[in-house]
Amino acid sequence: MSERIFNFSAGPAVLPEPVIKQAQQDIWNIENSGIGIMEHSHRGPVYDKVHEDAIANCRKLANISDDYAILFLQGGASSQFFMVPMAFLGKNQTADYLNTGVWSKKAIKEAKRFGNVHIAGTSEETNFSYIPSAAEITYSDNPAYVHMTSNNTIYGTQWQTEPTIPAGSFLVADTSSDMFSRPIDVSKYGLIYAGAQKNLGPSGVTLVIIRKDLLERANPDVPTMLNYRTHVEKNSLFNTPPAFGIYIMGEIFKYFLGMGGLEGMAKHNQKKAAFIYDALSESDLWQLPARADCRSLMNVCFRTASEELNAQFIKEALAQGMSGLKGHRDVGGMRASIYNAFPPAGCEALGQFIRDFAKKHG
Ligand SMILES: *Cc1c(COP(=O)(O)O)cnc(C)c1O
Repeated sequence: MSERIFNFSAGPAVLPEPVIKQAQQDIWNIENSGIGIMEHSHRGPVYDKVHEDAIANCRKLANISDDYAILFLQGGASSQFFMVPMAFLGKNQTADYLNTGVWSKKAIKEAKRFGNVHIAGTSEETNFSYIPSAAEITYSDNPAYVHMTSNNTIYGTQWQTEPTIPAGSFLVADTSSDMFSRPIDVSKYGLIYAGAQKNLGPSGVTLVIIRKDLLERANPDVPTMLNYRTHVEKNSLFNTPPAFGIYIMGEIFKYFLGMGGLEGMAKHNQKKAAFIYDALSESDLWQLPARADCRSLMNVCFRTASEELNAQFIKEALAQGMSGLKGHRDVGGMRASIYNAFPPAGCEALGQFIRDFAKKHG
């Protein structure tokens, strides 16, 4: 196949075209240095500029104050599942978790190794079809922190606003599947983390934003590489960083700024999702597992009542140049992942395909 197709993969996911084109050059020779980005010393001036620009543009995008450090770590979002409680959950303390899907459950499992976990809210009884409301959330007396998953990649649900948390606690968010898809008020959080490969870049780098004063309460007795303080003090350059991933992330931050920043990204993503949700609303053939008031702009989950028709949909869509539409096994049916870099034309094409398919089979 010589042309690129519409890639609805849940992750790793599509990257912005201008960024890929720039990267093609910079892999060969960046900034006329005669050396490609992956071959530069991470202690040299060319890489240093890439690194500093990525941090500065991230700060600019979400208006992140100097009270926060911006880190580029390895080990994926999955390593944050244990780094957070390792740092902030003492043996006799309790952390509160909002259980909105499999990724939340994985975070909960790791936290239990370090201290007590209180499930402050859950939608597990409906296979995570919704986000608990304030009335459905009950916190423990004095939680060390409250952990949420902002977008639930598998079920297609998304928090519309942050939950209000008890005074004295701080909010931790796994934003892997919706980071920078809309404005985010970083001052409401103590720690935010996101694996890059859905919304921000290639796999291999994890964006972590941490309020610096929290380092004073962090457990100092952890391995050097797993200590947030190490990475804050060394500006993510304690050891060799995932330089290529950071380079791509930096280019993507510039691309987001060029799209009108996070306000611009929100409009862009709303428009994209509407192409698909509108088409789905036009026929009773379609069932949407996520409750209407919690639907995600990043992962659109849908199905028909027939396994056979679902399989046919996925097969015919692929023949028309739309790949990655098979839903996660825990939900079944179809899932269109339309993260930040996914093009509007692909959403329009899928919307049209959904209409044509419903006409034939509805
Ligand atoms: C994909 C995903 C993860 C896993 O991220 P890794 O970087 O592979 O560890 C965690 N949380 C959410 C919400 C995800 O969508």
